[in-house]
Amino acid sequence: MRRDAATPRTCPTCGDELSFEILDDERFLVAWSCLNCGLIRTTEPV
Ligand SMILES: [Zn+2]
Repeated sequence: MRRDAATPRTCPTCGDELSFEILDDERFLVAWSCLNCGLIRTTEPV
């Protein structure tokens, strides 16, 4: 069994690995981007 804590998400469109970038450290706002198809998602925990 293999677990990647550093890459918890994959692209919903192409299934490629998403890279993340911290936009706001205080609010834990993170942008997930796919280098393959250019998809960008932002995550903001409530
Ligand atoms: Zn993709």
